[in-house]
This record gives sequence, structure tokens and C-alpha cells, in this order.
Amino acid sequence: MKLSADITNRLKQAAGPGGFSDDAQEVAAHTTEWRGRWSGKTALLLKPKTTEAVSGILAICNETLTALVPQGGNTGLVGAQVPLHGEVLLSLERMSRIRSVSASENVIIAEAGVILANVQKAAADADRLFPLSLAAEGSCTIGGNLSTNAGGVAVLRYGMTRELVLGVEVVLADGRVLNLLRSLRKDNSGYDLKQLFIGAEGTLGIITAAALKLFPRPHSYATVFAAISRADAALDLLNRLQDATGGLVTAFELVSRAGLDLVLKHIPGATDPLPKHRGWFVLAQVSNPAAFDALPALEAGLGKAMEDGLVVDAVFAKNERERKNLWLLRESLSEAQKIEGASVKHDVSVPLSRIPEFLATADKAVRDALPGARPVAFGHVGDGNIHFNIAAPPGNDAALLAARDKLESVVHEVALRLGGSVSAEHGIGIAKREALKTQKSAAELDVMRALKRTLDPNNILNPGKLLPDA
Ligand SMILES: Cc1cc2nc3c(=O)[nH]c(=O)nc-3n(C[C@H](O)[C@H](O)[C@H](O)COP(=O)(O)OP(=O)(O)OC[C@H]3O[C@@H](n4cnc5c(N)ncnc54)[C@H](O)[C@@H]3O)c2cc1C
Repeated sequence: MKLSADITNRLKQAAGPGGFSDDAQEVAAHTTEWRGRWSGKTALLLKPKTTEAVSGILAICNETLTALVPQGGNTGLVGAQVPLHGEVLLSLERMSRIRSVSASENVIIAEAGVILANVQKAAADADRLFPLSLAAEGSCTIGGNLSTNAGGVAVLRYGMTRELVLGVEVVLADGRVLNLLRSLRKDNSGYDLKQLFIGAEGTLGIITAAALKLFPRPHSYATVFAAISRADAALDLLNRLQDATGGLVTAFELVSRAGLDLVLKHIPGATDPLPKHRGWFVLAQVSNPAAFDALPALEAGLGKAMEDGLVVDAVFAKNERERKNLWLLRESLSEAQKIEGASVKHDVSVPLSRIPEFLATADKAVRDALPGARPVAFGHVGDGNIHFNIAAPPGNDAALLAARDKLESVVHEVALRLGGSVSAEHGIGIAKREALKTQKSAAELDVMRALKRTLDPNNILNPGKLLPDA
């Protein structure tokens, strides 16, 4: 896409002082996805600081049929934030103001470009918790989190991003500002328009601010790493621990021996808490409210699960250092896989009761499709979300990458057959547009396309992302 000098000048002016960049290094950091899987180019990098500036930019883009791609922290995993065809790149990074925090109403209002970790910190400073938490929290932004409906490690207790949002401020494709920035807990006044923009990956409007729910801060944590007797013991164990603790389980993560071995091989400081066990593990964490220690309840629940043969062995974190060490094992899985070599990643979900069947069936299907391939599954099992990643046959990255499409369709087919989704939390972007066709009915795709036509009739907002071609 090429921009005329006139449109370029008008856009730069609309973006306000300091609202664009020609610096090649800065532009390159925005046009390449962090892993280098997708790389694009842009006719112009815009960095507005106010909602009014975003509004002005969109009005010009709409009038001149100029496509643009919104971007937050550029940490997305499906390529949706990359301008692949020279589109204008609209970075929200300078809209980084916390507009207000109310501890009494449990609401924080943050602009789209606020880094997630800064929202967490502002909440903590007010003695509150903003529970959204993911490994990219030091770089990703609230606008990106809403636009991808991000998940992360606390979904089991607090829900996906969608459930944490009370209101949004959105600039529509034609530049009008839709002020839905209400902080009402109850509002049954017709269609819930804010939900349209959450998870829309920047295809329906630009989010400029959000009103977010806050919660009481946990007082402390009880954390355990347990070896389970078989994969299908995990769900039973989760329900027992929820019953034992009155629903206080915040995280319940599944880790395989293959994954743990990769972490032990590549991550400095990682130690094996249960070296004798070769099967599956769970990492469970309970958040203790003030003046209540859930540890005895967790210990009792786990003890009973051991007696009943669900759990083989378990290690409790005795202090903060040990808790961090246990989490290192789970949080380093992706990094360890990267160091090991090429991998093909999946972010599927299935109904909780189908997880063991999914793991067994997908494992076999992948090994049949590419002999020597090494499935390394892990995930937020309490949410039915499995990151079914596949490491290359030893020393043969090329074979894995050549088989990427085949492996993806094999894994997605198993997930869909079991009533699941091809994207649990990362979104669709460009990575899964074709897969979406296999998941959604014709009627669903029709409604999605009708919404897009209504809200963005000139198709200027992140064109070619999320929606598959008709
Ligand atoms: C190490 C690592 C771990 C991760 N872990 C998780 C995880 O556990 N769970 C999870 O769900 N994701 C995870 N992710 C993915 C990613 O961090 C999330 O998708 C995050 O929400 C993206 O935020 P961002 O600001 O980087 O958005 P970007 O990557 O910049 O953009 C993502 C999408 O949102 C759109 N967008 C951005 N800002 C706006 C806006 N203001 N208005 C409209 N559209 C906008 C973009 O166009 C694009 O479609 C992880 C990523 C990394 C690198």
C-alpha cells in the first residue's frame, strides 16, 4: 500500500505532536512479530496520545479508504498485530495513562496503551488485585488484552479478560467515539455493545480505554506440585481441591514428563521436585484471602486423593522461593521448547471431561502424521485449554516445519471432533483464519461478516485478519 503525500501529511497532523515516527529502527520493532514468524511493513507509524487524535486519524482513513492495523505491545501470537501489506500502523503505546482507580468501587480505568503489569501495580497500590496475568504482562497492553480476550494463568478463578471488563471507550471506523466507559455492575439496557470489541482483534473498532474490575488481594498462596497417577485423574483432583478449599483454586496447570525434562535440560536453576515419576504432573495454587489459610484444607484434600490413588506423590512450597521454583517449571516450558529447536504450537480447548481423550488421541495422530515428532502438551487444564506443542524429531527441524500444516489440521480435527475450539485464548489473526472455517457454521460466519460490514463498511480496520475469505 502506498500513501499519497497529502494523506500522509493529514494523518501526521491528526496524530498530534510526537504522534508519528520515521525512525527505521523504531518502525522495524513494530512491523516484525517478536518471534520473527511474521514480518511486514508500514506506510506510516502513528502514535497518537489522545482519543481525539485516534478519532481524527480514523476519520481520515475512512474517507480516503486507507487501511490501518492497531497495535499494543506486539506480543500477540497469531500475527494479528502485524501490518502485512504496508497498512498504516496505529500504535496505542502513548495512550498509557491510568485515568482513575477506585478501591471502594473496585474499578480501574486505564487507557489502551497501559502495560498490563502497570495496571496490576496501580491496583496493588490501592490494595486491590487486577487478576489478569500472563507471561507477557511486562510488555502487553490493556488494549491488546481486550482485543485478544486474553486468558492466562488465573482464568480458572477470575475468568477471561471479557469477564473483567465493565466498560470500554472505542473509536469507530468512521472516527466517531463510542463512549461505553461505564462502571456499572448491572446494566440490562439492551445489547451489550462492549462485548463486540472484546476479542475482535482490532477488526471492528479501536479501543482507547477500559473500565476494569478489581478484586481483594490474596493474602498468601498455597502451592503444590503433584504427580498424578494418570491424565484422567486431573479433573477429579481439581474438583476435590475446589471442594476442599471452597473454590479458592486459582491455577491448576498440567505438565508432562516430556515437558518437565526439556525445562530441566535447558533452564538454569530448574530442579526436579519429583524425579521418580515418569507420567503427568499438576501444579495447583490456592489463593488465601486475608485471615484464612487454605493450606491445611489443600493438604487434607491432597492426602485423601493420595489414599484414593489419584495422586502418587506431591511437594508443597514451604516458602516464596520454593513457590517461585515450582512456577519456574511451568512458566519456562515455552522457552525450553524454543531452545530445544523448532516446534509447532497449538492453543486448543476441549470440554474438561474430554481432556484425557484429547491428549491420547492427538498424541497418536501426531506421531502417525510425522514419525519421531515429540508432543509436549501442557496447559491450563482447569479451563480445558491445552497448549499441544510438538517438538521436532531430534535434529530434524526441517521435517517438522515442512509438516506444519498437516500437523495443525490433525490436532485441530481432534479438538473439534471432541467439541473443542482451535483457539482457546490466543485468537485467530492470520494464523488460524482457515481453521476457523472448519469450526464455525456458515450461519456463524455470516453473522460475523455482517457485523464487520456494519461497523467497518470500507474494510479499513485490520483487513485480512480474523475473518476467513468468503
Ligand atoms: C511469552 C508470552 C506469553 C503469552 N501468554 C499468553 C497467555 O497465557 N494467554 C493469552 O491469552 N495470551 C498470551 N500471550 C499472547 C499475548 O500476550 C496476548 O494476546 C496479549 O493480550 C496481546 O497484547 P498486546 O498489547 O501485545 O497486543 P498486540 O499483540 O499488539 O495486538 C494483538 C491484537 O489486538 C489488536 N489491538 C491491539 N491494541 C488494540 C486496541 N487498542 N484497539 C483495537 N485493537 C487492538 C491488534 O490489532 C491485534 O489484533 C502470550 C504472549 C507471549 C509473548
